[in-house]
Amino acid sequence: MRQIIVVGAGIIGAAAAYNLKKSGAQVTIIDAGSANATSASFGWINASFFADKDHFDLRSEGIQAFKRLQKELPIPVNWSGCLCWENEGDAFEAQLSELKGLGYDVQEIDAAAFRSKEPDVANPPNRCLLFQGEAAAESGQLAQTLLHAAIEAGAKLFSGVKVQGFELYGDRVTGVQTPVGNMMADEVLLCAGTATEQLAATLDIRIPMLKRPALVIKTRPIAPAIRHVLVSEIGEVRQLPDGAILMPASVGHQGDDASEIADSPDMLAEDAMDRLRTLLPSLDLSLAQTTLAYRPVPGDGLPAVGTVMPGLYVATLHSGITLGALMGELIANEVNKGISAQTDKWLGAYRPERFWGS
Ligand SMILES: Cc1cc2nc3c(=O)[nH]c(=O)nc-3n(C[C@H](O)[C@H](O)[C@H](O)COP(=O)(O)OP(=O)(O)OC[C@H]3O[C@@H](n4cnc5c(N)ncnc54)[C@H](O)[C@@H]3O)c2cc1C
Repeated sequence: MRQIIVVGAGIIGAAAAYNLKKSGAQVTIIDAGSANATSASFGWINASFFADKDHFDLRSEGIQAFKRLQKELPIPVNWSGCLCWENEGDAFEAQLSELKGLGYDVQEIDAAAFRSKEPDVANPPNRCLLFQGEAAAESGQLAQTLLHAAIEAGAKLFSGVKVQGFELYGDRVTGVQTPVGNMMADEVLLCAGTATEQLAATLDIRIPMLKRPALVIKTRPIAPAIRHVLVSEIGEVRQLPDGAILMPASVGHQGDDASEIADSPDMLAEDAMDRLRTLLPSLDLSLAQTTLAYRPVPGDGLPAVGTVMPGLYVATLHSGITLGALMGELIANEVNKGISAQTDKWLGAYRPERFWGS
C-alpha cells in the first residue's frame, strides 16, 4: 500500500487526506499548528465570483462536489443562498447578464422581495441578485470533520510538528524533515497554505505567493436574524450557527488585493462595526473578536495544483473553501493514479509550471 505524507491540515490537506484514505492509501498528516486560513475563513461557497470561464466552471464543479461530500459526511454546509447587491447600474447589469450567459442559478429580485427575505437589512436595494444555489460552510469545523473521517479510516495525524524540508533520493522526494526526525513516504503532498512558497523554495521550486492579509470581525451572538450570505455595498456578512455575525473588515473581500492592512486592527474593526450597524440598525451588535489571517493566494491569483517533482505534489489556492471538496477528490486521484483526462479537465489550467517560464 502506498504511503502518502500530507503536509498541512487545513481544508485542502484534510480533504485530500480523506479522499486518499477512501482510496485505500496509507496516510500520515503532519501539521505545524501555524497560520491556518481555513479556521479564519468567511466560508462562502460560490461560483458568482470568478476570474474567467475555466475558473467559473471549476467553482461550479466545486459546488457540485460539496453535494457529493454531503452524502458521505455530516459536513457543516448550509445552502442558505446569497443576496448580492455590491454592484449598481451598469456594473449590476453586466454581472447579471454575464452570469445568465454562463447558465448560473441567478435571479433578480426587487426591494419588496428582498425585504421579505431579510427584514433586518435597512434600505433594501431596488435591484438585488439572488444566488439560490450558494452556501456557507463553517470552515474550521468542515476541515475537522474531514480530518476526523480520515483518522477514523486509519490516517495518522502528527500535530505541532513543523516540516522544515524534504528528504531526497536522487531527484525524487522520499520524505520530510522535521525538528524531531525525518519521516519517509512514497509521495509527499504539500498543502501548507501560505507556507507553501517557502517550503517549495527549499528545493528551488518557485511557487510565488501574494501577501494578502485580512481582518475578520465577529460580533457577540444574537438571536437568528440573517438568513443568507449578504454581499452588500458595505461588505460581506453572514450569521454563524451560534448567532455571531461574521464580516471581513475590507469591503469586497474576495477581490481585496491589498498587500498591507491599511490601519490599526482596532480602528478597522470599529469602522467595520459602524458599517455593520448601518446595514443592520435594528440589531444590537457588539464586537467580540477580530482575527488577522493571511489568504493563500498564488502569484496570479489562481490555484497552483500538481506534481512539481517526482514524489512531491503541491496544492495551494484561494477560495479553498469553495474548491475544498473538489480539490480533495482531484488531488487524491492524481496522487494515486497520475493525471487523467478527467482530472486535467479541471486542473490543467492551474499547474504550478506556469510560474517557471523564462
Ligand atoms: C479572511 C479570509 C476569508 C476567506 N473567505 C473565503 C470564502 O468566503 N470562500 C472561499 O472559498 N475561500 C475563502 N478564503 C480562502 C480559504 O479560506 C483558503 O483558500 C483555504 O482555507 C486554504 O486552505 P489550505 O488548506 O490551503 O491552507 P490553510 O488553511 O492555511 O492550512 C495550511 C496548514 O498548513 C500547516 N502548515 C504550514 N506550514 C507547515 C509546516 N512547515 N509544516 C507542517 N504544517 C504546516 C498550517 O499549520 C495549516 O494548518 C478566505 C480566506 C481568508 C483568510
